[in-house]
Amino acid sequence: MARPGRVLISDAELESRIAELGAELARDYGGRARGASPILVGVLQGAFLFLADLVRATAIDLTTDFIGVVSYAGAQSTGHVRIVSDLSMSIEGRDVIIVEDIIDTGLTLTYLKRTLEARHPRSLKICVLVDKIERRKVDVGIDYVGFTIPNVFVVGYGFDYEGLYRNLPYVAQLDGE
Ligand code: 5GP
Repeated sequence: MARPGRVLISDAELESRIAELGAELARDYGGRARGASPILVGVLQGAFLFLADLVRATAIDLTTDFIGVVSYAGAQSTGHVRIVSDLSMSIEGRDVIIVEDIIDTGLTLTYLKRTLEARHPRSLKICVLVDKIERRKVDVGIDYVGFTIPNVFVVGYGFDYEGLYRNLPYVAQLDGE
């Protein structure tokens, strides 16, 4: 049975890198008038922990929202993505940052970027916790990256395997799949 194995990113490494990402966001988006504060859009379900920690590391005025997507193809991403839970607010004219757990082939983020760009935000950037760069099929401009990892399936800190292990406080490799 598949189980979490070797820890790839410890809780201490997550904490310090997310503090750095939060400082980068504060530098890029700080000091604006209230109506001009950015909207951080967490992609459900995987990014819920990352978004929660990231916003607490970003000491500026900001708004959060969530978008839920599913990929039709399960483990093997095909880029056939569907929105199952939409944003609760308009992003027109706003600075938006998509906060995603992982970029693998890049198909999910390409779809999300296209979908949100069609709603005419003032700007749209992407922040990912983990980049599996070896597996990229399409080039997506990523503005903020937490960690780059090799091509292994990971669980923990929001990442699941069949719905389990999201609650681990670290990112581990899945063993015995
Ligand atoms: P992409 O469309 O970039 O290939 O895939 C992105 C999606 O695939 C992520 O949002 C995530 O749901 C899933 N994914 C890719 N690699 C992993 C992994 O190592 N672990 C888990 N749990 N999900 C992954």
